[in-house]
Amino acid sequence: MLQLYNTISRRQEPFTPLESKKVRFYHCGPTVYWTQHIGNLRGMTMADLLVRTLLYLGYEVVHVRNYTDVGHLTSDMDVGEDKMEKGAKREGKTPQEIADKYIRIFETDTAVLNLLAPKYKPRATDYITEMKDMIQALVDKGYAYVTDLAVYFDVSRFEGYNKLSRQKMEELDAGAGKGDVQDPAKRHPADFALWFFKAGVHKNALQTWPSPWGKEGFPGWHIECSAMSRKLLGRTLDIHMGGVEHIPVHHTNEIAQSEAASGERFVNYWLHNEHLLVNGRKMAKSEGTGYSLSEVGEKGFDPMDLRYFFLQAHYRSRQNFTWEALSAAAAARDNLMRKAFVLKSLVLPVGSKGAIIGKYNSEFEEAISDDLNIPQALAVAWQLLDGKHKPQDILTTLYDFDRVLGLRIRESLERQIPAEVMELVDRRERLRSEKRFAEADNVRQQIEEKGYLVEDKDKGSVVKPKEF
Ligand SMILES: [Zn+2]
Repeated sequence: MLQLYNTISRRQEPFTPLESKKVRFYHCGPTVYWTQHIGNLRGMTMADLLVRTLLYLGYEVVHVRNYTDVGHLTSDMDVGEDKMEKGAKREGKTPQEIADKYIRIFETDTAVLNLLAPKYKPRATDYITEMKDMIQALVDKGYAYVTDLAVYFDVSRFEGYNKLSRQKMEELDAGAGKGDVQDPAKRHPADFALWFFKAGVHKNALQTWPSPWGKEGFPGWHIECSAMSRKLLGRTLDIHMGGVEHIPVHHTNEIAQSEAASGERFVNYWLHNEHLLVNGRKMAKSEGTGYSLSEVGEKGFDPMDLRYFFLQAHYRSRQNFTWEALSAAAAARDNLMRKAFVLKSLVLPVGSKGAIIGKYNSEFEEAISDDLNIPQALAVAWQLLDGKHKPQDILTTLYDFDRVLGLRIRESLERQIPAEVMELVDRRERLRSEKRFAEADNVRQQIEEKGYLVEDKDKGSVVKPKEF
């Protein structure tokens, strides 16, 4: 049975969705004001591994991953400039153009990393009505109050505000109070904005909407996820995921808003992934270490090398990125693919369909069910490749595992050996069996001209690309 580590209980728990085989899953998506670095893409890949694991185990997944295109300030705690405006100024474009541009880049990056597309990809600016309705409900119930600058959530009114982070309320006072001298009418330093008015530091805000609270303005970042998840998935979600940095503020605030508005539990399982470090330090654009996927490609790596690298660390562990470590991952993937090639070449002359090998299948399932132990699942794939079984069975089992690993194994093998090359290989085999060696050699040359090598083994010939 699938076990997941639930941040709110700090324990690994058996996973039971609300509806027997259907999983309502919300994942906090990117703020689309800049290219996402590979640290963010690791977080996205970890969510993909969760989705693939659920699908592998027979669940249906309703996956929502949002785009924040308004309201996320440069500090997560209501301070600073709207990131979309920052991006718009940087590039001399409108926030809308900036959102379109970076959504496009993000969708390309996630597609080449072989992340399954979510069922819903809501943009925050398309759900302003739902956000306003939820804020109004909070005002009506006495959980929110209006000042000259914003509508705030009153954290002192919500019991268990700190239940996810387990921070002490006094510490929150000290932490959240810092820098937030912008609104003296705020009651508690940890109170957070549900709606910012076009006033004060935001008097020149570029994206604003009319509001029922006197002035136009724009939503706070946290209410976006609460409103979109409720609209698309309902009041209670099975799983909500995001980076560990969201525990003390963003997710804490999402719980407060959603539960205060609905009176019901917001999320049953909270999952948080750890960060990708670079050379042991936080990734930072300012230090030139906020690498993008295209930079990884420019260094000669395949996106699947990066995906393989991500598979090597558990989502709750920090992973340290270095170019050497990525090279090692690329070499390991190359090795895995070469082994798979040999099997594929052996299977083709045989032509029979393989069967999934039970022993490895159960070990694989055990690994992924253990709070997504993907590094262990990858180890099982290696044991399978090195095991003594029929090539067609090994290959069939490997393809099955790749439904979770997502390394495009089958696709790469089929792409790497085009049908026309395989036809030549078959023709050469026939010629050799008829002892027409000169003609067979001629065909071998044709194969090599197409970029492939043929090696003769006792069970038949093996074809490999000259370069992987
Ligand atoms: Zn969120």
